[in-house]
Amino acid sequence: MADIKFLADVHLGRVAKYLRLLGFDTLYFTNIEDNKIIEIAKNENRIVLTKDKILCERLKKSCYLVKSKKPIEQIKEIAKHFDLKKYAKPFTRCIKDNALLEDIEKSKIEDKLPPKVKKFYNSFKICPKCHQIYWLGSHYEKMEKFIKELLDY
Ligand SMILES: [Zn+2]
Repeated sequence: MADIKFLADVHLGRVAKYLRLLGFDTLYFTNIEDNKIIEIAKNENRIVLTKDKILCERLKKSCYLVKSKKPIEQIKEIAKHFDLKKYAKPFTRCIKDNALLEDIEKSKIEDKLPPKVKKFYNSFKICPKCHQIYWLGSHYEKMEKFIKELLDY
């Protein structure tokens, strides 16, 4: 259960981002056929998140049918159903492409940082795939509060 992996269907892009923010391995494609979803779910042992009943029936156990309508309610519903607060590792995964973030020394990326960030922050992570740099900036407290809210069930 600690290694729970998801595949969010095309209608659940925001949910996929929230799951990555919480540290869960979550695939998301903007354009994918049901057969392909089923193939990936099987091969990679992923739970498909969808609002599509027919797709869910085809997947049997490796599917969760999302009932809520708004993304924020959907992620809360999913978090509660899978008891995600036990396994969440926030800020460990790239929101854009799902890759695991790596620590990087400030000296290696200094020239890429906005001046204020360079001045005030010392701890950085980088996405090995898209090279996005992450730091625990002023948005961090807001995000932490948001994460607490998501996992408050
Ligand atoms: Zn990335």
